[in-house]
Amino acid sequence: MFTPTPGPPKIRLIPSNLRLQQIPMATRAETTSKRPKRGVPEGLWQRCPGCGESIYWKEAEKLLNVCPKCEYHFYVSAQERIRHVLDEGTFEEWDAKLRTADPLEFVDATKSYKDRLAAEQKRTGLADAALTGGGMIRARRVAFGVTDSGFIMGSMGSVVGERLARLIERATDESLPLIIVSGSGGGARMHEGILSLMQMAKVSAALGRYDQAGGLFISVLTNPTMGGVAASFASLGDLVFAEPKALIGFAGPRTIKATIRLELPKGFQTSEFLLEHGFVDRIVSRSRLKSEIARAIDYCGK
Ligand SMILES: [Zn+2]
Repeated sequence: MFTPTPGPPKIRLIPSNLRLQQIPMATRAETTSKRPKRGVPEGLWQRCPGCGESIYWKEAEKLLNVCPKCEYHFYVSAQERIRHVLDEGTFEEWDAKLRTADPLEFVDATKSYKDRLAAEQKRTGLADAALTGGGMIRARRVAFGVTDSGFIMGSMGSVVGERLARLIERATDESLPLIIVSGSGGGARMHEGILSLMQMAKVSAALGRYDQAGGLFISVLTNPTMGGVAASFASLGDLVFAEPKALIGFAGPRTIKATIRLELPKGFQTSEFLLEHGFVDRIVSRSRLKSEIARAIDYCGK
């Protein structure tokens, strides 16, 4: 029920730029970018967004980029995720040569799409926001895909959609369990317009055929999973796992709040909230993800 709050509305008294200046230099990168930069220098102390404590990054790294104090799950890249989930040295990349065209010759506020792609490729070592291929999870062969929020927010353009569709088709042909880890906060990639939007339908249709063939699809949602990715493959798992406290939803909380003009429930769009409401089947911490996937494959007899 809606209860009016007495007194004037709460406003932020300290502007965010002022607060930033009070934070020591070493933690500024983390605070401004929302996620740690790639190639964190050795010995760096990081401020944990979960508990606010300074943590020794090497210690968090040993726990697969999880805060040792509060279990906050930091960002991991697609390549790291493969190392965390698949048996060592078993990943074999599929469709690595796919590259997007730039049919709209799109230019955003600061860069052309071509230049943006080139910069992201150089920075992340990825050709686009998804890696797909075959591999083993505790000696079970699987088709594996992962999207990376470090590459244009993990948004789904034609390459991400095509790679995932081909992954699903190959999983169907070879009767493989399918695992897709989503780290996509950007939804459909606006730089490719309608071509991005159609990827949602294409990937979903491929999943429909995979399902008819009796496949097992485990969708793993990580922080963040939003927009057109949440509205397509990420939500279509036979089993939907989520990392703790991940932001999962379609439109962001601020947009919804501004539209409906109501206070959102506490914890809205978190893994825990979605588990309670039946959208997520299980919350799995990063350290248990590999064994939980293996267990689910065995349990489903795949
Ligand atoms: Zn923490």
